[in-house]
Amino acid sequence: MRRKRRVAILGSTGSIGVQALEIIQRSESLELHSILCGSGIRLLREQILEYGPSTACAVAPLDGADTTGILTGPESLEEAIQGADIVLNAIVGSAGLSASLLCQELGLPLALANKESLVVGGELLGEHLARGLIVPVDSEHSTIHRCIHGEDRPVLGVTLTASGGSVRNMDPAAMYAAGPPEILAHPTWSMGRRITVDSATMVNKAFEVIEAKWLFGVPVDAVIHPQSIVHSFVRLADGAWKALLGHPDMRVPIQYALLEAGEPAIVLEEDGPLDWGSLCFEPLDPLVYPAYGLVAAAGEEGGTLPAVANAADEVAIEAFLSGRITFGRISQVIAHALEGHSRWEVRSFEDVMEADAEGRRAAAEMIGTPC
Ligand code: NAD
Ligand code: MG
Repeated sequence: MRRKRRVAILGSTGSIGVQALEIIQRSESLELHSILCGSGIRLLREQILEYGPSTACAVAPLDGADTTGILTGPESLEEAIQGADIVLNAIVGSAGLSASLLCQELGLPLALANKESLVVGGELLGEHLARGLIVPVDSEHSTIHRCIHGEDRPVLGVTLTASGGSVRNMDPAAMYAAGPPEILAHPTWSMGRRITVDSATMVNKAFEVIEAKWLFGVPVDAVIHPQSIVHSFVRLADGAWKALLGHPDMRVPIQYALLEAGEPAIVLEEDGPLDWGSLCFEPLDPLVYPAYGLVAAAGEEGGTLPAVANAADEVAIEAFLSGRITFGRISQVIAHALEGHSRWEVRSFEDVMEADAEGRRAAAEMIGTPC
């Protein structure tokens, strides 16, 4: 019998991490190697008891937290990854880039949920991409990966689908003034807080356009598809379109990325075309989603602009979630950070971190809080 594949889960206490733990527990070919989280360790302690990983790490536990049996500090990342056969990077934000770079350095297969790694540092991950060692976990990119795999016709382009998030049917004034309760109620997907807000501003979709550019190297666009049943399209040279359909559930792309061919760990409830009803597609209106245009343009220009956009967005979302700014201000904060930035090329991790710091400063300045 083949040895089980040992998985390191970075971001185990988040939405993706928790679903990955369920998959590993139910799979006959996967084994949990390690878990790692950011600061909140209460759930990490529960996960240690329930799943028994060989190593558990917390990068920055809160002062006074009981860390018995837990490795702490930024160096614990290396301990979590060492000895794994595959790493699931489900850390949120640009903080995930160093983990992806470490996987590249160690030649370790990477199941990549942390799209920010490619958004802010796609230039730095070229070697791992070229070796085929990055499998995307994002549902759209997982779909495209599956549609392209084994396809011998040239791919002309890909079209990402977007649900439209929680603001799709709001009038503009209500949308501008909206607070966390309205925005965190996503209509089709259940996810972490940052990506849920990013789905409402559509920054998430702009990030995914950048992510797709690095992963597939073909033209990318996006359409609104409120039902979230079609998880993106691939357009082939002979005029045919390929897509993957199904109930929106992140366990499908997570297990696809972790498992090699063979039996799935989890089979979803059966639903099909008669349950889905009408499927519709609409253009993405840049007036409803100004942040989409801003961030997608930053992605086209490249260099340090996407890192600045991401950093400003992270700061703006924190301010939004703590009630300091309204929803409509998020795109203004990103615009302010991008306008004040003189772009440079990304050649090193330091280039990204410097741009990240600049984006955070500009955002904090506009929000009116000291850095
Ligand atoms: P989440 O907020 O629920 O969880 C984030 C995890 O990252 C937590 O375990 C947290 O402790 C950890 N973390 C935060 N800062 C850290 C740091 N500095 N170092 C180490 N760990 C840190 O987020 P999520 O929704 O699970 O999303 C994770 C990633 O997956 C994001 O990049 C997101 O865009 C992507 N993604 C998520 C979904 C989804 O359905 N949730 C879908 C597609 C892509
Ligand atoms: Mg997605």
